Amino acid sequence: MNSAILTFESANFGQLEMTSLTEDARWQAVQARDAESDGKFVFAVSSTGVYCRPSCPSKRPRRENVTFYRLPKEAESAGFRACLRCRPQAMSGNPQQEMVKAVCRYIEQRLDESLTLAHLGKEFHQSPFHLQRTFKAVLGITPKEYANSCRMRGFRQKLKAGHSVTRAMHEAGYSSTSRLYSRTASELGMEPAKYRRGAIAAPIRYTFADSPLGRILIAATNKGICSIQFAESDDELEQGLKHEFPYASRRRDDEGMADLTASLMRHMR
Ligand SMILES: [Zn+2]
Repeated sequence: MNSAILTFESANFGQLEMTSLTEDARWQAVQARDAESDGKFVFAVSSTGVYCRPSCPSKRPRRENVTFYRLPKEAESAGFRACLRCRPQAMSGNPQQEMVKAVCRYIEQRLDESLTLAHLGKEFHQSPFHLQRTFKAVLGITPKEYANSCRMRGFRQKLKAGHSVTRAMHEAGYSSTSRLYSRTASELGMEPAKYRRGAIAAPIRYTFADSPLGRILIAATNKGICSIQFAESDDELEQGLKHEFPYASRRRDDEGMADLTASLMRHMR
C-alpha cells in the first residue's frame, strides 16, 4: 500500500460537526458556496427534487424550499435525486470513511508502538468492537493488519535503501525478528535478500481493479502477493511497480489473477 493511504486528510467527524452547525450556519454556507462545508451536509430542494453539496455552482434556491441532511443517502431516502452538476453522492465526507482515514493516520504515526484496540477505541471515542468492525467494513482488514502492512512497507523501503535486514526491521518499527520472519515469506512473496536486490529474476504478474480507495494494483510472484498499491491512475500504478521491482519481468495478467483479485475485492467491500 502506498501514497493514497499516506495522504489521508486529518480527522473529520462529520457527525459531531453536524450537531454543532445550526440551520442558519448551514444556510450561510450554502449561500457562500462554501467548499469547506462539503462533506458536512447536503441540502435538498423541494421545488426541484434535487440535492446538492454546499459548494454546488447552480443557482441558489429559496430558503423555504431547502432541507438539510447529514448524508447523501438520507436525502435519497427522503426521495431526492443527486444533482448531476456537483455529484454530491461522490463527495468525501462519509463519516465512517473519514473516521477510518483518521485511524489510519494515527496508526501510521505510531508504528513503533504496540497499539491495542482498547487504546484506539479510547482515542476515537468508540467501543473497541465498533471501531474494529467499522475499520474492517471500510478497508477489509483490521487495524492491526493495517499497522503490519505499514511496517512492511517501511521495511521494504529501508531494504531498498540498502540498510541491513536487522537495521531496516528496527527502523520500520518491528520490535523482534520473529515477528518479521513470520510474515516475510507470505507478504513479500520472496526472501528479504532477493527483495533487496530488486527481485532480479522473479517474474511478477499484476492486474488492476477498482477499490473503495481508488484504483488498486495487485502484483504477485509465484510465492504470493508481493505488492498492493493504490493511486489515481493505472499509469501511476505501473510506474510504482516498475520503481519497486526495476529488474523483474513484469507482465500484466488480468485473466490469470482474476480469482485472487475477486477474493481481495470481497474483503475490501
Ligand atoms: Zn448541485
